[in-house]
Amino acid sequence: MTLVVTGGAGYVGSVCARYLLDAGNDVVVVDDLSTGHRDAVPDGARLVVGDVAEVADEVLGAGDVDGVVHCAARSLVGESAERPAKYWHGNVVTTVALLDALRRHDVPRLVFSSSAATYGEPESSPITEDAPTRPTNTYGATKLAVDLAIGNYTAASGGALGAVSLRYFNVAGAHGTDGSGDTGGTAALGERHTVETHLIPLVLQVALGQRDEIAIYGDDWPTADGTCVRDYIHVDDLAEAHVLALDLLARGDAGSVREADGHLVCNLGNGQGFSVLEVIEACRRVTGHAIPARVAPRRAGDPGVLVASSARARAELGWKPTHTDLDGIVADAWAFARARA
Ligand code: UDP
Repeated sequence: MTLVVTGGAGYVGSVCARYLLDAGNDVVVVDDLSTGHRDAVPDGARLVVGDVAEVADEVLGAGDVDGVVHCAARSLVGESAERPAKYWHGNVVTTVALLDALRRHDVPRLVFSSSAATYGEPESSPITEDAPTRPTNTYGATKLAVDLAIGNYTAASGGALGAVSLRYFNVAGAHGTDGSGDTGGTAALGERHTVETHLIPLVLQVALGQRDEIAIYGDDWPTADGTCVRDYIHVDDLAEAHVLALDLLARGDAGSVREADGHLVCNLGNGQGFSVLEVIEACRRVTGHAIPARVAPRRAGDPGVLVASSARARAELGWKPTHTDLDGIVADAWAFARARA
């Protein structure tokens, strides 16, 4: 197949592009390089530098595009509260323009990077796809708006467009490392955010001496050790789910997609929660560094516990996460961070 990966110079998009190439597809990456890195685009993919909405007609109009994996997004929760226009334009307006282009050029498949942030504070755990969607931040609101738009477009397409939204929980780890700090001579792909807000890379920055300590955002949550619990999923398992989602859409008998009016929503998590303290402990074990930590106030908009039910992804996509060990996930992130330090 010929596939377009938007955001293919970013963390998740680059690993998805790598997996799709390895599965024998032709891959075109579209990325404006605002937060992505040119050298993260995997060898073998063609890179088109530009805004998704602006280049969509050129890329999709070239003909024979079988599907789009749409990872390009603005994704900083804190910034989304301060700059809603950047998020509503960058995530929602841009994706609606992409949906219009998909229909204009008869592209039949879309896989979208959605988020657990669409659910907000959950009523029960683990979270299924039928849970109420009440996002507690602007970022989550824009991801939910896109999910709703996709459902409207697929329903109106009369079967011409099929889509899967993958609601990521906490993506972690790195691709192409062997956990020992050796990248095996190939380009490793991991988190390289200029503004880093995610727990594991921040804790590893302490181990690298780039940061004095890690702030724990609250130790008075109603959890076993009082710190927030999240569902960490390895980026390799996540990328595999995108390959499987495209396979599902490519099957003529994708009954589950048809029954969902052409738009299947699937959570992607391991179904296993780890607390902030457990993550810090895993980082201490893996790095051998003491990693000083300090309790700080809760972060606005953080739910206490976010754990996915992955039952639907397992049943409908045939997905089975294989990197579920927290120390293993941290070891891959550590190998990547150390190789780049
Ligand atoms: N967290 C923390 N200190 C930090 C960064 C994050 O205690 O410096 C906590 C945060 O409150 C959340 C968890 O770590 O409970 C994961 O946060 P992250 O930003 O990595 O992902 P999120 O769950 O917000 O998508």
